[in-house]
Amino acid sequence: MKCFNHVDREAVATCQSCGKGLCRECASKYRPCLCVMSMTPKQ
Ligand SMILES: [Zn+2]
Ligand SMILES: [Zn+2]
Repeated sequence: MKCFNHVDREAVATCQSCGKGLCRECASKYRPCLCVMSMTPKQ
């Protein structure tokens, strides 16, 4: 699986909310591990 935010990077974690792949950079950037889609409040 590839990172949702970086299509050229291999995913090492998954979004806790929707299960999308996240690379190491993204996984460490957001805690808990969330993709940008899940980070953004639905409202
Ligand atoms: Zn990434
Ligand atoms: Zn997500």
